[in-house]
Amino acid sequence: MSYDKNIRQCPRDVFSEYLAKHHKRRTPERFAILDSAMSTPDHFTIESFHDKLESEGFHVSLATIYSTLELLVDCGLVRRHRFGSDSARYERTAGSANHHHLVCSRCGKVKEVRDASLSEAISAIRYPGFAASYFSLNIYGLCRACQKRERKAGQTSRKVNKNNQTLSTIRNRKK
Ligand SMILES: [Zn+2]
Ligand SMILES: [Zn+2]
Repeated sequence: MSYDKNIRQCPRDVFSEYLAKHHKRRTPERFAILDSAMSTPDHFTIESFHDKLESEGFHVSLATIYSTLELLVDCGLVRRHRFGSDSARYERTAGSANHHHLVCSRCGKVKEVRDASLSEAISAIRYPGFAASYFSLNIYGLCRACQKRERKAGQTSRKVNKNNQTLSTIRNRKK
């Protein structure tokens, strides 16, 4: 398993220390979930993560996945996002230097974008009395596929309207 080189400490050690400190058991399931989360570069939901674990041969309940991910969020190895009204998405902290999310408000697809100048500008801001650790900027709109679908739907409805107009003209003429 290859961990991000930028992380100073091995995630397994971080998690192990965290569990010991909080008097929680160091179960093989928890570490399997950690390993799998650390090797997932994109955002994932609990359901998609469950499918991934199943395909890797780990049978862990959704409840265990949820509670373990919450522990990983608490110890800083994983981030939880809420994009619009969708269910929570998670992503590993390692290797995901400050980036922005382009979120499709129709299909929920999330694309990551990096903009160094914007990141620097935000990082330079100091908020009195607040110790910022990271930021996440979400930009909402329509993805390419949904824009295409929208254009197609627009064309069809225009065609239908045109046909209806033609029909009513014919009907009016008959009167
Ligand atoms: Zn979309
Ligand atoms: Zn992200």
